[in-house]
Amino acid sequence: MDVIRLLPDSVANQIAAGEVIQRPASCLKELVENSLDAGAHNILVMVRDAGKSLIQVVDDGAGMSVTDARMAFERHATSKIREAQDLFHLHTMGFRGEALPSICAVAQIKMTTRRATDEMGTQLEIAGSMVQSQEPCQCPVGTNIQVQNLFFNVPARRRFLKSDQTELRNLITTFQHIVLVYPDIAFTFVADDEIVYDLPVGTRKQRIEGVFGKSKSKLYTSQLVEIEQQTELVTIHGFVGKPESAGKQAQQFFFVNGRYMRHPYFHKAVLQAYTGMLSSEMMPPYFIYFDIAPEQIDVNVHPTKTEIKFADEQAIFPILTATVRAALGKFNVVPSIDFLGGNIEIPVASADVRATAKAPELHMSSGYNPFDKPKQHVSSHWQDLYEPLKQPAKPDNIIIPDSPAAMQSVKDWTEITLHPQQLSGGYISCTTDEGLVLVHARRAHVNILYHQLISQQQAGRGVSQQLLFPEQLRVSPDEQPLLDTLLPELEHIGFQLEKTAPGEYDITALPSVLGNQNAETALRAIMSHAADRTTDISGEMQKHIALTLAQSAAMPMGKTMSEQQMQAMLQQLFALPSYRITPDGKTVVVLLTQEEIARRF
Ligand code: ADP
Ligand code: MG
Repeated sequence: MDVIRLLPDSVANQIAAGEVIQRPASCLKELVENSLDAGAHNILVMVRDAGKSLIQVVDDGAGMSVTDARMAFERHATSKIREAQDLFHLHTMGFRGEALPSICAVAQIKMTTRRATDEMGTQLEIAGSMVQSQEPCQCPVGTNIQVQNLFFNVPARRRFLKSDQTELRNLITTFQHIVLVYPDIAFTFVADDEIVYDLPVGTRKQRIEGVFGKSKSKLYTSQLVEIEQQTELVTIHGFVGKPESAGKQAQQFFFVNGRYMRHPYFHKAVLQAYTGMLSSEMMPPYFIYFDIAPEQIDVNVHPTKTEIKFADEQAIFPILTATVRAALGKFNVVPSIDFLGGNIEIPVASADVRATAKAPELHMSSGYNPFDKPKQHVSSHWQDLYEPLKQPAKPDNIIIPDSPAAMQSVKDWTEITLHPQQLSGGYISCTTDEGLVLVHARRAHVNILYHQLISQQQAGRGVSQQLLFPEQLRVSPDEQPLLDTLLPELEHIGFQLEKTAPGEYDITALPSVLGNQNAETALRAIMSHAADRTTDISGEMQKHIALTLAQSAAMPMGKTMSEQQMQAMLQQLFALPSYRITPDGKTVVVLLTQEEIARRF
């Protein structure tokens, strides 16, 4: 006896529903996407009991004919693709013809729909995949679909749903993901007879304001900076938050071709643009929209998945970082070191873009320390400092300048006069067009020295200073292995150690940033910090050594400085790619904006 049988459609649909419709929010998504595909201009969403009793979507889109209304609930019935090839040129949200049959397998549906060309509409009732009735009816053009008692016939699924609060939150998040893409369509969201959102047609920024403006401060959208980039591969636009808008939680959205997506890799690209501007737990808000040829992405992964595969992610990464960074550069705390209107040349992405996308280094004269020779006239100094910048970098190597200063010629720099003043306690203040800038002098110095050391390390040579009289270093047998592992890095950064006996060394040279400080103390600090850390990643260790050295060498807080010293310090500081915080995440620069100052009076 043969045992294989075809499943009845109702059963097959119920199985499919398990995949496509997992919760009220997935049902809402499918219905609203259908309305979008139908060309609606106004979409009303109503839910009751977090969608468990009712999800209703009313649109003024194209509507359906009498036959289509019924066909729509058949499995794999779709008006959107005809052959497999079409899958690669999708311009609609739906295409699988799975949503309505899945929904009608697990809920009770009532739908009215009418096309503009029809005099009468049609009303259809379906429950558990069974058509209950279909009749002509009077109704406006468009489609009005009610999904009642979701999972009424699948008790296990119904029980699996979360609390009303959680499911409502899911519904709202899903709704947000859609409305943020379509500011030219009016949306209303009503939950249990209460209007949650009433979003008129507007600009994209107004839509963001409409969605988040209520919960966030009024300043929300004024803290967003527009981004815009067009390459042959991809168009990127949208908004990112200024560093001061970052918080522990932030609204972060990526969209591609009108679809919300999660993309951890691109998320990293965005965060990279904020390097040095935010401490690690602060998150910037962003709303970033990608437009890309449909064949460059694969959305066919899974109907409920929000991860989307890109064919050329590695090429997009640096473009994204550069775009965000350029936009942020325009709003730097010191306006005089602004990006030049953000018109940075970004190469058209190609396979080797990653290789060439290295940020140009800012070359500092090695070992320069503004505090070594306080009498020296600063501005003459500075010419040597930024000497290498005089030769324009090859534009095809630049994807993003490492710092705003890298964009400026030396001449512009010497024209900057910040008129810094020292406050008691070791802070420096200066005024700019944007407001009052306060700088933590010691941390600024740590930052400057740290970056000097790092760029020396990258250049492969620490600048050392020979000692006339070598200092002695003694290490105990248990310290010996640690020192052995550190030795190559230490020599790299400018130390020279000669072993004279087991556990005994002569320090014959030390990094010149240390000046005439005690070499042994600095070495001990490096060793004790390194011992606390388990990392053996060489890059990490290098950074770590550089930081410890910078901290040992930096001036103490509260030291008196001349105006020229402060001027030199600020100019060097603001030339750094990450001047706002120290490498270990401490605040270096505080900006009190004009508005903030005004608010205090
Ligand atoms: P898909 O959207 O993948 O084609 P669905 O099951 O979601 O599959 O919908 C099936 C078909 O029903 C659609 O292709 C479309 O022709 C029609 N349809 C569904 N909802 C609407 C609507 N709101 N307005 C007009 N037509 C609709
Ligand atoms: Mg659909």
